[in-house]
Amino acid sequence: MNDYQLSPIAFIESPYKQKFAIPRQPRLIPEAKAKCKFVGEFNREEFVRGIEDFSHVWLIFRFHETADKGWSPLVRPPRLGGNDKKGVFATRATFRPNGIGMSAVKLEGVHYENGQLWLELSGIDLLDGTPILDIKPYLPYSDSLPNATAGFADTRPETPLLVEFADKAIAFCEQNQTLYPELQSFIEKVLKQDPRPAYKKTKVGLQEYGMSLFDLNIKWQVIESNVTVLEISKNSEKPA
Ligand code: SAH
Repeated sequence: MNDYQLSPIAFIESPYKQKFAIPRQPRLIPEAKAKCKFVGEFNREEFVRGIEDFSHVWLIFRFHETADKGWSPLVRPPRLGGNDKKGVFATRATFRPNGIGMSAVKLEGVHYENGQLWLELSGIDLLDGTPILDIKPYLPYSDSLPNATAGFADTRPETPLLVEFADKAIAFCEQNQTLYPELQSFIEKVLKQDPRPAYKKTKVGLQEYGMSLFDLNIKWQVIESNVTVLEISKNSEKPA
């Protein structure tokens, strides 16, 4: 009787193809652009009439990738180095009862073309394919709380990392500007937030990683606090 069934009204098309390296909150990386494509009976202009007057919207969504992986009353927020436990409702963890996420993101545009309604968004922290359950306009007079305090997450996360690009990685960004505008600063900001798992951050010596953004495979390494983007290649191509 108290179980609810929810159906997606839309799905997200995002450059983040895997959970690894997605920022932990929205708007930390303005270059992260996405489309929100409406489906079924919600794919009609009426549903968003007037939304273009708002600069930001709330996305209410399902953590679909982790929803069936369970939850526990205590979680280890990455902010606390993975050591300290907090109650799940005292965190923004993805593993939670009901698996619902919320993000206030920038609304860049509203389009209805060839029978498809979609919103253009930026500053997103959502995985590609995320089901959207609801959308509401962001109301600054009520939603913005400049005097609020936030315990262990009181400030924007900062890292001491310096991000550099190897020559061939820069060349890739320059040659593919039309297809991937702002790619270099996007990658730089993704890496600057240090996506490594907490236990790896204390490791010394060389560490190599790969991540995917769009259909690109990005290889990078960390030596102490220096991150170097070594190589960018299309998933379909083998790196040279
Ligand atoms: N702003 C949201 C999300 C915070 S958690 C909220 O507060 O509810 C942010 C993390 O959610 C990201 O780092 C990413 O790893 C994860 N994530 C994003 N979309 C997801 C999805 N569809 N399923 C599971 N995890 C997702």
